[in-house]
Amino acid sequence: MNVKKYKVTGENKISLDDFDTEDTGGFSSSDDVKGMMKDNIVEIAKLQDRLYAEGKTGLLIIFQAMDAAGKDSAIKHAMSGINPQGVEVVSFKQPSTEELSHDYLWRASKVLPARGKIAIFNRSYYEDVLVVKVHKLYENMNLPSRCKGKNIIEKRYDQIRHFEDYLWENGIVTVKFFLHLSKETQLKRFLERIENKDKHWKFSDADVRERKYWDDYQEAYLSAIEATATKNCPWYIVPADKKWYTRAVISNVLLSVMKKIDPQYPVVTKEQEEALLESKKTLEELG
Ligand code: AMP
Ligand code: MG
Repeated sequence: MNVKKYKVTGENKISLDDFDTEDTGGFSSSDDVKGMMKDNIVEIAKLQDRLYAEGKTGLLIIFQAMDAAGKDSAIKHAMSGINPQGVEVVSFKQPSTEELSHDYLWRASKVLPARGKIAIFNRSYYEDVLVVKVHKLYENMNLPSRCKGKNIIEKRYDQIRHFEDYLWENGIVTVKFFLHLSKETQLKRFLERIENKDKHWKFSDADVRERKYWDDYQEAYLSAIEATATKNCPWYIVPADKKWYTRAVISNVLLSVMKKIDPQYPVVTKEQEEALLESKKTLEELG
């Protein structure tokens, strides 16, 4: 599967219209990708084991999307096969009073992945240039007036780019997914949530309110992606109208990212080898 076409590294100007939300990469159904997904899960699990054992690189995986784009189920699938000891999933909701009393990167900094670990962010500090931009929430923030200028969002793009570059320079790899959904598919999924009792809990009237700002969000996503996509910390704009394809793309991207990290089991030194043999001898003697 060619995932390169979904990768954005900030070199060229992009338009979201150039990314087809209905794309299925030539596959016609989930059956076509089943085998590949299964193999990917096994490979990812092996690489995660090495990542953990090596304990050098942290992996930060960010999921952003409009409501009903399938973030939750994409995360559930991305997790399959991953050893729970080495991964943490964090959801970013409306900031609490405590969180609002800090800089916006504070709550994310606290949950960054340690070396050898993976952190999956369900939403992230990108909300601070998305919902905050669309609703101009910064106007009511308790900030010194010098920090509330018109260019606050542009400044945040720079801060986020620098933040992720800082992480990269310190051994933490950031990968960002934007699940790109059509407005029609969002409507279809909202109606399903209303009609299906088991899905009611997923629907909130806030979803309807936010849908009214669809175009503003699309614009905010595009600006944020363009401003923060880099060679080392790229964005992937993943077609989200077909959930099975969204998951297949994500699984391939994660595999390629982990292959690129290429974690290795620590090499056993001569002394460690001797100590192991010594332990073996003692164990055998003890019985
Ligand atoms: P959900 O992911 O559907 O549970 O919704 C979480 C809600 O929290 C979304 O509407 C987000 O836009 C909102 N949210 C997350 N981060 C922020 C933030 N920094 N400022 C304001 N709202 C946020
Ligand atoms: Mg929601």
